[in-house]
Amino acid sequence: MKNHQFVIIGLGRFGSSLARELVELGYEVLGIDKDEEAVQDMSQHLTHTVVAESTDEEVLRSLGVRNFDCGVVAIGDDIQASILTTILLKDLGVKKVVAKAMSELHGRVLEKIGVDRVVYPERDMGIRVAHQLVSPNLLDYIELSKDYTIAELAVPKCLNGVSLQDLNPRAKFGCSIVAINKPRGIIIAPTATDVLAEKDVMVVIGTNQQIEQFEESVT
Ligand code: ADP
Repeated sequence: MKNHQFVIIGLGRFGSSLARELVELGYEVLGIDKDEEAVQDMSQHLTHTVVAESTDEEVLRSLGVRNFDCGVVAIGDDIQASILTTILLKDLGVKKVVAKAMSELHGRVLEKIGVDRVVYPERDMGIRVAHQLVSPNLLDYIELSKDYTIAELAVPKCLNGVSLQDLNPRAKFGCSIVAINKPRGIIIAPTATDVLAEKDVMVVIGTNQQIEQFEESVT
């Protein structure tokens, strides 16, 4: 087991998927939900599970949640419960509290009460899928700022056997290939003589516009 310990409150679709993934990654996870069935469903997958009402301070105290490194409030629909649980986790001294928000307003309230990070799973997934639908080679991306992105692009057939020198996206579009993920391993900071193959994934950094133009040129 790795060092970090997580407490996930709310084992709905988001909370249970998050909790299971953290366990897969080797972390210890306590899952809490007031719904017995939700807890039952997760009991074999998580390190510990408890049926409990998370808006009850004494309950959270007795479960020792303050000893956890990170608490995730994955309650969506019941905004009151989400806010109360978040305040309690902060007050009890959980080092990092992450909460899921169902709307911008819900998120703003969570920020006002001092949550360390607000996540908007439905909104963010919608945006991500939209990007992937309009860019067929886009596998994943991270927005570094409003303008800059790191994108993972599948190498299309037309670039099979093309060297970075010939492709030269830096000179043509202003974006750079910072890594090439090949089936046999990843090449970090590839050189001009490195050659792309169809099954590779190139990691590109640049402005959104540069990456878009580069992608369009090879689609
Ligand atoms: P999702 O959309 O991710 O499925 P939901 O809001 O539907 O999210 O699910 C949230 C989960 O949180 C449910 O399983 C619900 O039983 C649980 N939950 C809601 N309020 C509380 C509370 N006060 N204490 C503990 N668990 C709660």
